[in-house]
Amino acid sequence: MSRKRDELRAQERQARRTRITGVLTSAFPALPEGEVAAMLTSLRADRGIPLRDLGEHLAAHPDALTSGDPGCPAVIVRLIQALRDAGHGGAVLPGCSECGRSDVPLPRFGPGGRVCQACGAKNSKRRCGRCGRTARIFARRDEGGICYSCYRVDPQIVRECAGCGRVRMPVTRSDGGPLCLDCWTPPARTCVSWRR
Ligand SMILES: [Zn+2]
Ligand SMILES: [Zn+2]
Ligand SMILES: [Zn+2]
Repeated sequence: MSRKRDELRAQERQARRTRITGVLTSAFPALPEGEVAAMLTSLRADRGIPLRDLGEHLAAHPDALTSGDPGCPAVIVRLIQALRDAGHGGAVLPGCSECGRSDVPLPRFGPGGRVCQACGAKNSKRRCGRCGRTARIFARRDEGGICYSCYRVDPQIVRECAGCGRVRMPVTRSDGGPLCLDCWTPPARTCVSWRR
């Protein structure tokens, strides 16, 4: 059972790598297939979440390596850097979606796409437009960004709970309507490790 699953995962990884290799070699005809595999391995993008992010992003945005679009996962930026290092100048590094710099790492994600460390730090906490506290901003409203404390009681967010009738932030929907955290029961499921 678990061996079968390992095999399926390996097949899935292989299929992803093949699709990624296809996108790369068609965008960069001078890039040998073997080099793509080595590049993915050296970027630790040949498996797991980076491989999935890379595959899904390239499937949805086949031009991601040449468009310079900052709305991409971190692994795309690393791949573009590796391509440029290998002499493929057609690969375009995205710039920070806030300050526009493209000569710096873009470790974080902001409202408009990837951002550099400096812009990320600047963005992470701001004065809440509603309560005035300095906090991480959860949503935009007419008066500015609002913090989580304000968000969870925001008129656009709260609903009358179908369970208890209180007006609160719903955590889920039942057939009868939205439910608050107190009224929600997590679904009972058989633990997967028990079935093995
Ligand atoms: Zn920046
Ligand atoms: Zn607030
Ligand atoms: Zn409730």
